[in-house]
Amino acid sequence: MSEDTKKRTLYEQVILDHNKNPRNCRLMPNPSCTSEGFNPLCGDQFTVFLKIEDDKIVDVSFQGCGCAISKSSASIMTTVLKGKTKAEAEALFARFHDMVTSDPGETDPPGDLGKLEVFCGVREYPVRVKCATLAWHTMLAALEGKNNPVSTE
Ligand code: ZN
Repeated sequence: MSEDTKKRTLYEQVILDHNKNPRNCRLMPNPSCTSEGFNPLCGDQFTVFLKIEDDKIVDVSFQGCGCAISKSSASIMTTVLKGKTKAEAEALFARFHDMVTSDPGETDPPGDLGKLEVFCGVREYPVRVKCATLAWHTMLAALEGKNNPVSTE
């Protein structure tokens, strides 16, 4: 097995694990902000809850259902956002978005994204990009105080 294949297999296992046992998949009773997101192309639908204190995300959770990519992306997102400021969360999403929309013809996707790198293979499947970014778009809408449900269309 090549190094690349090993990496891919590992990434797939992480995605499947988060899909099966999503982290922070719960209702938050008193969130600072919340938003709903819907990806009509795939049928993914999530609500994201955020608790903000002193400009920091102190708790984040989500509820909903969707495909393995969207669900595991929401789950992994909740594990990386705690303790981040709003600006840091926005910057992280910008880099994540760059990675999943980067040209698969390039040798390496932009790196240094830690756990989020498991989604680098998504760039080869443009239709899956919306699945991988849905929870993030929803989280940003919540941070920005938008109450209208987010749609990827
Ligand atoms: Zn999906």
